[in-house]
Amino acid sequence: GGCRQAQQVQSQQGLVMGTLATITVYAPRNTATDAALQAAFRTLDEINHIWHPWTPDATLARFNQALHTRQWVPVPADLQPLLLEALRLSRASRGNFDPGLGELTALWGFREAPEPGIERAPPIPSRITALLRQGIGVKHLQLRRDPQHGLMARTDTPTLTLDFGAIAKGYAVDRVVAQLERAGIENAIVNLGGNLRVLGSKGDSPWRIGIRAPRGDGTIAAIRNQGDMSVLTSGDYERYFIHQGQRFHHILHPRSGAPARGLISVTVVTDNATLGDAASTALFVAGPRQWPQVARALGVDKVLVVEDSGQVWVTPALQPLLELAPGVRAQV
Ligand code: ADP
Ligand code: MG
Ligand code: MG
Repeated sequence: GGCRQAQQVQSQQGLVMGTLATITVYAPRNTATDAALQAAFRTLDEINHIWHPWTPDATLARFNQALHTRQWVPVPADLQPLLLEALRLSRASRGNFDPGLGELTALWGFREAPEPGIERAPPIPSRITALLRQGIGVKHLQLRRDPQHGLMARTDTPTLTLDFGAIAKGYAVDRVVAQLERAGIENAIVNLGGNLRVLGSKGDSPWRIGIRAPRGDGTIAAIRNQGDMSVLTSGDYERYFIHQGQRFHHILHPRSGAPARGLISVTVVTDNATLGDAASTALFVAGPRQWPQVARALGVDKVLVVEDSGQVWVTPALQPLLELAPGVRAQV
C-alpha cells in the first residue's frame, strides 16, 4: 500500500436496455476496478429486468398487467421512487414528457427498434384517434396511500401502459454512477446509447463529449466537462421508419398521438441524468416555439436544439462548455 497505482483509461461494453452501454473509467488497472465494472453491468441488467414495459416477467410489465384489471393494486417497492419522480417531471414538463404512452408506442410499432430507415406505413389515423379517445397518459393514473398496503395505483382506462423509455436510461446512468463512486472510482463516463454522465476527468485533460449530428455522420459539437455532469440527447434518428419520403420517429406527442414535429435533436446538460433524459424528451416534444418555456419549468438551463431546418440554437449557459464543429453555426 501507500504507493498510488498509475491510472489508465479502461472501457467495457455490453448490450443492455436495447442499446450499447459503454462504461469508461480512468482508474488504476487492478481487480477492484474490474470488479466495479462487472458490478456496474450487473446493475444495468437488474434495472432492465425491473423497468422493461412488456417483457412478461419484468416488474413493470407485471404492474402494467395488474393495472389493466382496473382494480386498486399495490405499486411494487422497486418502482416507487422513479415512478414518483417521473410523475413530478411529467407535471413540470406540462405533460410533454409522459411516462404513460406505452400503447401509443406499441401502435406506432416502436416497441422494437425498426431497421434504420425501413419503409413502413404509419398507423391509420382512426386507430390513433380511437386510442386517444380511450385514454392514454399518466393523467389516467390515480395513486393513494393505504395504511396496510402502502402506495396503491389504479387506472380508469384499459389503455394506460406505463413506459419509462424516455427516462429509464438516464435513471440507470445515475444508479451506475452512484455505484462507481461508492466503489471509489473518481473518473468515469457511463454512456447508455448516447445518454451519459461523466465524473472527474481523464487525468490531465477533461473528458470531451461529442454530440452526434442528427443528419449524416460525425458530430455537430463537443462539450468539455467540468467535474460531474450529464449529457442527454433525444433525436429523430434513433428509431424511425420512412413512408412516402416522410420520416416517422419514436418521440410521440401525447395530444396529437403522432411523432413530435419541428425539432430533430435536443441535448440537455444537467447534473443528473434522470432529469436530463426526461427533459430532452420533453423539450423535443414541446417543439421550436415552446422548448425554452418547458426548459425553464424543468429547471434546465444548458440546452442545444437543432430545428428541422438545420438551424442550431444554444442557450447562454451552455455556450462556455461548447465547441461547435467546423462549419456549424448556432444562434444563442
Ligand atoms: P431514446 O430512447 O432514444 O433515448 P427518448 O429518451 O426521447 O429517446 O425516449 C423515447 C422513448 O420514450 C420512446 O421510444 C417511447 O418508448 C417513449 N416515449 C415516446 N414519446 C414520449 C413522450 N412524449 N413522453 C415520454 N415517453 C415517450
Ligand atoms: Mg429521454
Ligand atoms: Mg433517452
